[in-house]
Amino acid sequence: MQCPFCHHHEFKVTDSRIAADINAIKRRRECLNCKSRFTTFETIDLSIQVKKRNGTYEDFQQEKLLKGLDAACRHSKISHDQVRSLVYRITADLAERQIREISSQELGDIVMNYLNHLDVVAYIRFACVYKRFKNIDDLVLAIEAIQSKDKLSSDQKKDKDYDVQKG
Ligand SMILES: [Zn+2]
Repeated sequence: MQCPFCHHHEFKVTDSRIAADINAIKRRRECLNCKSRFTTFETIDLSIQVKKRNGTYEDFQQEKLLKGLDAACRHSKISHDQVRSLVYRITADLAERQIREISSQELGDIVMNYLNHLDVVAYIRFACVYKRFKNIDDLVLAIEAIQSKDKLSSDQKKDKDYDVQKG
């Protein structure tokens, strides 16, 4: 990439945020040579492979994640639009990690971490599918853990900023 004004190759990133509607990372850059400022849009290219429990691989698919989350969030306080933007955030998160492969377990953990900030009901539904609790006691323990965590940090979570700050 070059500066559009002086064709220099080095920049400072002054701001970096997710443009969820177009599935891209928007960066505000400043040329280190001529100090001109301009914006770049980096489309998120996700050629990540998900390693499943049985050892087989499949391509990471946003649509599949969207379907799974839509199901988990049905009758919760999360709207379809919120689910969609959640999927974009998770996708951007994966893109920022610059990895080629992730286990379905790790992916599930990332998703649950995001869901946990939004809605407890959806979190538990998703957890039931992904964690595959061995028995009802495990599930009860997990719910209790969420509830005690919720009491401690419900105020801190309200204004959480999800923007990816990396440049
Ligand atoms: Zn320049």
